Amino acid sequence: MVVRMRVNRSKSGKRRSHHAIAGQRLAKCECGASRISHRACPQCGKYNGKVIIDIVAAAKRAARRQKRKQTELRAAGQTDETKEKETAPTSA
Ligand SMILES: [Zn+2]
Repeated sequence: MVVRMRVNRSKSGKRRSHHAIAGQRLAKCECGASRISHRACPQCGKYNGKVIIDIVAAAKRAARRQKRKQTELRAAGQTDETKEKETAPTSA
C-alpha cells in the first residue's frame, strides 16, 4: 500500500467503533420461557406453535450418551494408570 493511502490509528478506530457485536435478540415462547428468535424453544421444543423437538426423548438420548462416555473414560483411565505404573519404575 502506498503511504499516501495509509489509514492512521484514529481513523481505523473510528471505523471499528461500529463493529461491536450486538446482544442476542430474545423472544418469548408461548410456554413463557425466553428463546432465541428463529430457533426452537429449548424448554418445550416448539417452534411457531408446532412441536419440533421431542424434549423427553432428547433428554433420554443425552443421558445415554453421557453414561456411555463415562464408561469409556473409566476404561481408558484404567488402561492409562496401568501404563503409568509400568513406566514409572523404569524412568526413576
Ligand atoms: Zn417454549
